Amino acid sequence: MDKVYLTWWQVDRAVFALADELRKHFMPDVIVGVARGGLIPAVRLSHILGDLEVKVIDVKFYKDIEERMEKPVITIPLHGSLEGKKVVIVDDVSDTGKTLEIVIEEVKKAGAKEVKVACLSMKPWTKVVPDFYVFRTDKWIVFPWEEFPVVVRE
Ligand code: 5GP
Repeated sequence: MDKVYLTWWQVDRAVFALADELRKHFMPDVIVGVARGGLIPAVRLSHILGDLEVKVIDVKFYKDIEERMEKPVITIPLHGSLEGKKVVIVDDVSDTGKTLEIVIEEVKKAGAKEVKVACLSMKPWTKVVPDFYVFRTDKWIVFPWEEFPVVVRE
């Protein structure tokens, strides 16, 4: 799969753009950052929006040998209640959308009054189109906080 490389500058501009739209359309009480990729944008967004509370959740997909399906496992559950809160879930990218599907369910279970999703990026085939996003690509995105893959010629 082709790769696209995002720079810190692009990501920071994207987070500011998301913050602007959130202020206009859905000022949240709490940000839920999805580990790991959503954490840096979530913290940045929290500072830009005026020190909003950030909660963390992590979901991993493990192969279920019996059924040959990927089973989501919440490895870091949400801590505390979100009763009556307006919550924005923040992730780096919605690819299949499976992660966000689970996270939305968990946020609702925790009592959130309203839930929206903000991502830096989405893939055209995702089943969860974020309410707010900046980039749309069918390529593999390399974020600035990730290792840049090196091609070693043998
Ligand atoms: P999902 O398929 O559940 O929507 O995406 C799960 C996770 O896979 C994302 O939160 C992200 O961490 C990772 N992921 C999916 N597509 C990409 C991509 O293009 N680049 C990077 N760096 N991570 C991705």
